[in-house]
Amino acid sequence: MPLVYSCPVCRRSYSVDEYKDDRFCRDCDTLLRRNLQEKNDDVEGWRSLFPYTPYSQQIDFMNDIEKVIEKKGVLIAEACNGFGKTASCLASILPLNRSIIYATRTHEQVRQVLNEISTINDASSEKFTAVNLASRSHLCINPDCNELPRGDALELCRTLREAEDCRFNSENSQVEAACISDPQVEISG
Ligand code: SF4
Ligand SMILES: [Zn+2]
Repeated sequence: MPLVYSCPVCRRSYSVDEYKDDRFCRDCDTLLRRNLQEKNDDVEGWRSLFPYTPYSQQIDFMNDIEKVIEKKGVLIAEACNGFGKTASCLASILPLNRSIIYATRTHEQVRQVLNEISTINDASSEKFTAVNLASRSHLCINPDCNELPRGDALELCRTLREAEDCRFNSENSQVEAACISDPQVEISG
C-alpha cells in the first residue's frame, strides 16, 4: 500500500486507508496532506475524485490547476458554461487538503458547488464537507417569512427573535448540537 499522505508537521506517512479512517496525524493531530510528488495512477490528484469521464480539455485544465497550486501561483481561467469548471476545480483541489473558500456571484452557483461536492462524495466514497455561508434571507426556513418581501421578512424575523417565538430558531439550536456530535455536516443548497 503506497504511503500517499503525510503529516506536514512531523512527516509521518499514511496510506489511503489510514487517511480514510482518520484525516489527522496519529502523533500530532495535524490535518494530513496528500503527497504531490507521489504519482500513482490509483490515487493521483484529481483522478481519484473527478466524478465524470473527463474529456481532454478538462484533463488539461485539472493538470494546470495542480501545477499552479504546487507552485503556489494564481490561475486565471475562462471557460464556457457547461465546461465542468466547478467539478474540475473541486476534484483538483480537494485531494490537497487545503481549506477551500469558494466564492461565487450568485446563489445558484453556490448550489452548484454543493451539488458537485455531493456528486464527488457519492462517486468516490469520500466525505468532504461544506458550509454554505449565505445571508439570512436565503437560509431562513420559516415558511411565514418565505412568503414575504425581503424587508418584511427581516422585520418579522426580528420580532419573532425578540419574542423568542421562532420555533425554527430553537429547533435550529438542536440541529446545531446534532451537527457538532456528528462531524459530517449535511450539504444543502
Ligand atoms: S430566526 Fe426564524 S424567522 Fe429568523 S431567520 Fe431564523 S428561521 Fe427565519
Ligand atoms: Zn504529525
